[in-house]
Amino acid sequence: EREERALQARTPASEAMHTRALRTMTGGVPSSYQLRDPWPIYLTHGRGSLVWDVDGNEYSDFHNGYGSMVQGHAHPAIVRAVTERMALGSHFAMPTEDSVLVSEELARRFGLPQWRYVNSGSEATMDAIRIARGVTGRDTIVKIFGSYHGHHDYVMVSIGTPYGDIGPADHMNSLAYGAGIPQAVVDLTVPVPFNDAAAMERRIAALEAEGRKPACVIMEAAMMNLGVVLPEPGYLEAVREITRRHGIVLIFDEVKTGLCVAAGGAVERFGVLPDMVTLAKALGGGLPAGAIGATAELMAAVAEDRVKQVGTFNGNPLVMAAARASLTEVLTPDAYAHLDRLNDRLVDGCTAILARHGIAGYAVGISSKGCVHFTDAPIRDYTSFMAHQNAVLPELAWLYNANRQVLMAPGREEEWTLSVQHTDADVDRYLASLDAMAADLAR
Ligand code: PLP
Repeated sequence: EREERALQARTPASEAMHTRALRTMTGGVPSSYQLRDPWPIYLTHGRGSLVWDVDGNEYSDFHNGYGSMVQGHAHPAIVRAVTERMALGSHFAMPTEDSVLVSEELARRFGLPQWRYVNSGSEATMDAIRIARGVTGRDTIVKIFGSYHGHHDYVMVSIGTPYGDIGPADHMNSLAYGAGIPQAVVDLTVPVPFNDAAAMERRIAALEAEGRKPACVIMEAAMMNLGVVLPEPGYLEAVREITRRHGIVLIFDEVKTGLCVAAGGAVERFGVLPDMVTLAKALGGGLPAGAIGATAELMAAVAEDRVKQVGTFNGNPLVMAAARASLTEVLTPDAYAHLDRLNDRLVDGCTAILARHGIAGYAVGISSKGCVHFTDAPIRDYTSFMAHQNAVLPELAWLYNANRQVLMAPGREEEWTLSVQHTDADVDRYLASLDAMAADLAR
């Protein structure tokens, strides 16, 4: 309560803005993921690792636009590319050279030769699933229980907290996430637990026996919507082997990991090549972008127009200019080395602070991303996350952070994201905030 009162006292202009917004913008926010009680913080601008709110408060930004701004805010190279492009015309619905340059760079980084573009992560996963279905002629898909892949009907299934009856590991229930999703679509999406290749194989075999062989498995190589949950050794290799043996398309959803955990995303980091990847978030350097990369064999269905992959703003020149500048000038090998170093400091620092104050928990990280799990139990999938992640402390940590110049994405499923413009001073702020909370809790 003390922390909540302090935050309210320092954000009166956000409150006034929210009161005004409520009259015409539903819930006072453009997207329900921006909701926060009693009001969200309204921002005015950002530069580098910092953002400022309408009350003039400065924050080190670890939210980074839900993990999109790995370049940092207003990076000069991206500002220059977008400004130059804007003056030359920002939209034609015809290809520009930048879209070729971006495709060449993504093909090199991810080891998948063929690329197409969309405007968000949701569109990327929707189109990837359609391609898998179109090529295989099958309707059922398999996803990981608890993984978020965007807001379209195919994947708004078996995510979100809290849940009632999720079923046994070998036969998890398909559960709609919110109203308005047809049961017929929900039934086509079959969840399996993360980090359990044997359960995945048993479920696939059971589906085949029922005449419902899946078109694809869509998954994140490291789960990024339960904080951060890393794949256990051998898991991704086993998934690759199972999907190949069963003739099922393997999609790595790299909307959060791609361009953030290595130059070539999780594919490079873990050394397992799927049949398709989806990118978004960091791809656009702050503009709405999405991409699907795949084998030539899968993309032949798109090239021959048997599977429709379309969109007015796909490959938008402004977005492609930002992506080109980001890939060639900002997200360099040095940038990834910088992210790795800062993130290691943050992960080790958080774990040490909890240990020093006798608070159960540990930090997990991978390059620009990480989180604190407030438990001593290992979190390896949705079930262990629900059973062990503390329900209160992540929310309290968000408040302590906001009151100490650290902005985080709200919700206990979220992680931090560093940018290439973050410095040791930003990390110091984060660690000082966690230290303050841990000291108060230990008292
Ligand atoms: N896939 C993953 C792994 C995500 O984390 C998200 C968004 O958080 C999406 C897809 C959807 O992306 P978007 O919000 O751009 O539609």
